[in-house]
Amino acid sequence: MPTQDEPIVFVISGPSGSGKSTLVPKLLELPNTMFSISCTTRRPRATESPGKWYDFVSEEEFDRMVREDAFLEYACVFGRHRYGTPRKWLDLARERGFDLVLEIDVQGAGQIRRKLPQAVSIFIVPPSRVELERRIRGRGQDSADEIARRLDRARDEMKCFKEYDFIVVNDDLDRAGREVQAIGIAARCRNGHARRVVENILEAFGG
Ligand code: ADP
Ligand code: 5GP
Repeated sequence: MPTQDEPIVFVISGPSGSGKSTLVPKLLELPNTMFSISCTTRRPRATESPGKWYDFVSEEEFDRMVREDAFLEYACVFGRHRYGTPRKWLDLARERGFDLVLEIDVQGAGQIRRKLPQAVSIFIVPPSRVELERRIRGRGQDSADEIARRLDRARDEMKCFKEYDFIVVNDDLDRAGREVQAIGIAARCRNGHARRVVENILEAFGG
């Protein structure tokens, strides 16, 4: 039911290990929803194939995209690698009448908020600091150095929680998934969003 004038842009953030990548597919289960594949200069992990969650690009390619203003937002995350949201996904979402899901850090979320104030932002948090560390280590995909950097950064990221529209505590995965979906459904029912349907009906009544 593509009823909207403009796609809803969902922004999902939270510290590394909070469960963003686990919960994003729950939001994508809603019909007419698509994922914004970010570009990153970080190397792929063993389990990651290019073009699914990320397009892995060189520093030069990333520079070129910045020069060409190809990003809706971009940031250097963990002081190391750069990540960015190509504008083309928003254009495609608009073309398809789909909503768009961005999984980005707190800096990128700030940029989106300024450019697209209607964006719906969700902050994912772990149930505790101990559990966060357990999840990052348990994932077993980052070096000891990288884990330390991510834990260090988690504290600063957590302090940004007030800037988000919604907070989802990811303790029980099923419940957290339902909450994320409920936010998506509620956003679609918001007054203003399905305006065109109402306008069409009023028009059919003769205005
Ligand atoms: P992020 O994308 O925020 O870095 P992930 O989605 O990769 O986090 O989750 C980090 C780890 O925690 C993964 O191994 C994932 O399977 C696990 N995880 C995610 N949510 C839960 C949960 N509710 N309970 C237990 N483990 C979880
Ligand atoms: P990871 O390396 O674990 O995949 O992601 C590291 C961090 O980069 C996460 O906080 C993730 O949300 C963020 N990130 C991923 N893609 C983007 C993006 O396009 N822009 C910004 N600003 N951050 C991103």
